[in-house]
Amino acid sequence: MAFYKITHNEKHRFATLHNYGCTFRCSICSYKLRSGADGRPGQAYPRPTRFLGIDQMKKALQAVSPEKVFFMGGEPTVAPELPEMLDFVKNTLGVHTCLGHTNGSMLPLANLDGANVGLKAWDPKVHLEYTGKPKQLIFDNFAAAFQKGMDLKANIVFVPGLIDVDQIEAVAAWLATLSREIPFHIMGYIPVPGQSYKPPTTEQMNVAEQTCRRHLTCVAVSHLTSQQALDLSARDDRFAVRQIA
Ligand code: SF4
Repeated sequence: MAFYKITHNEKHRFATLHNYGCTFRCSICSYKLRSGADGRPGQAYPRPTRFLGIDQMKKALQAVSPEKVFFMGGEPTVAPELPEMLDFVKNTLGVHTCLGHTNGSMLPLANLDGANVGLKAWDPKVHLEYTGKPKQLIFDNFAAAFQKGMDLKANIVFVPGLIDVDQIEAVAAWLATLSREIPFHIMGYIPVPGQSYKPPTTEQMNVAEQTCRRHLTCVAVSHLTSQQALDLSARDDRFAVRQIA
């Protein structure tokens, strides 16, 4: 699809390009919190009424002189304008480029400095069932991006009954084979419309965190309610942004 919005955080001096659409079909996609049970995963709601042109995006970014530019989704790598915008941000503006979140299916990319990659599952069958896509390409891409020197973080959603601690620990152990220093964020599942999974308890989250700390030095957890997830700016001023295009 394409980028439809750019936001700017004046305090922290970063801009974010927002893409519509994703290549995965995760049944528990958190975008359904806004789009509802019938919403397609990875798609913002409501569907954008217009998309941004390349010149419009470049002008908006130049006007605010960010120190860092993020690309978000859905899945930002499906935007056909991404390679040109990465080139512009990296080589014309001269600032850090990062995929604020990505499913990892297109890593590594030219002119991309960093990425926060959602690793969905360790078991190949579960991965395929969960996302509609095979697991191996994603993990191979992550390793290739790491070997290329990209600044990588990883995250996973803890969904009791679908992605349990054994899967999460296996992902953490695999990350540790690359580096024990890779930051790993475990997110408690936030119930979305149309799914029967329950969120993990605080105790389950603690077990997941302590288990992963055996493998990795930087493990963080978040355990939000639906309401908290829909109003992140109330908890973190990095989400207090102004739309600039
Ligand atoms: S990869 Fe992320 S954005 Fe895409 S469907 Fe899955 S959870 Fe949603």
